[in-house]
Amino acid sequence: MLTMNPDTRTQFPSYEWPDGKRCAVIFSVDVDAESPYLWRNRMEPKNGVSEIEQRRYGPRQGMSRIMGLLEKHAIKGSFYVPGIVAQTYPDLLPRLLEQGHEVAYHGYLHERLDALAPETSEAFLSQTMEIFERQTGLRNLGYRSPSFEHTPQSLALLKRMGVSYDSTLMGFDHPYEIDGLTEIPTQWTLDDILYFAYTENRRDKLHPANPIAVLETWQEEFEGTREAGGLMIITVHDWVSGRPPRIRLLDRLLDHIRQHDDVWLATSAELARYHEGSVNKGRFSVTTEKGQFPTTV
Ligand SMILES: [Zn+2]
Repeated sequence: MLTMNPDTRTQFPSYEWPDGKRCAVIFSVDVDAESPYLWRNRMEPKNGVSEIEQRRYGPRQGMSRIMGLLEKHAIKGSFYVPGIVAQTYPDLLPRLLEQGHEVAYHGYLHERLDALAPETSEAFLSQTMEIFERQTGLRNLGYRSPSFEHTPQSLALLKRMGVSYDSTLMGFDHPYEIDGLTEIPTQWTLDDILYFAYTENRRDKLHPANPIAVLETWQEEFEGTREAGGLMIITVHDWVSGRPPRIRLLDRLLDHIRQHDDVWLATSAELARYHEGSVNKGRFSVTTEKGQFPTTV
């Protein structure tokens, strides 16, 4: 019999949360600014300025609005910042740390890891780690892959370079381990890009969604996650959700979430640390092994 997946488990225990909490919520921000544009056009720089201006809105105005929102709700966020963004805006990481937020890596040039030679991946990661260390004194932080993509080699690289956890993949709805690395899983349906990204780029051509409808969708995501005892990880972007109507949406979502005192509002780093010291460690350990694919004759 042909087996596609070498790990055939279909039953796992419930995730155990601390101190009577029944689920967790992370507010994460991918501070992309102009980095995806720079990555996409690295070979052939273009003369147009509209998309780059649209993206620079993030560091100029969006970030202050998002930080103000989190301050209002007394929530610490997890901010994933590409090396080039930290380099371009050198006061960004210190500002975030001053407000008690978590800062973590998000590639150097918002590179797609499945499109890179291993040497380039390593060079980008070490360059990013050096920038963060120079600006904050911190090393061995967490990582989120640009465009939510990984390869077995890129996960191994993170481990080898001492990155403390990854927050990219979607294999469980609570923390787990993949190839021995702690994974704080994300979720496409909780990413603002899906609803609001519209740029000159061919991929981002969505008809912008109604924020009220998205609020309802995300409240349902929250209720479902809470019932099931999972992790809800909100992922927003500086240049998308820093706009006033999206801030209103997030404000109302956080009001709703905060009405429940059995929810653990944490940063990804806090959750990764908890996971590693808890009974959950090892219970949800998987590998990137794909197994043998069925072949057609
Ligand atoms: Zn990104």
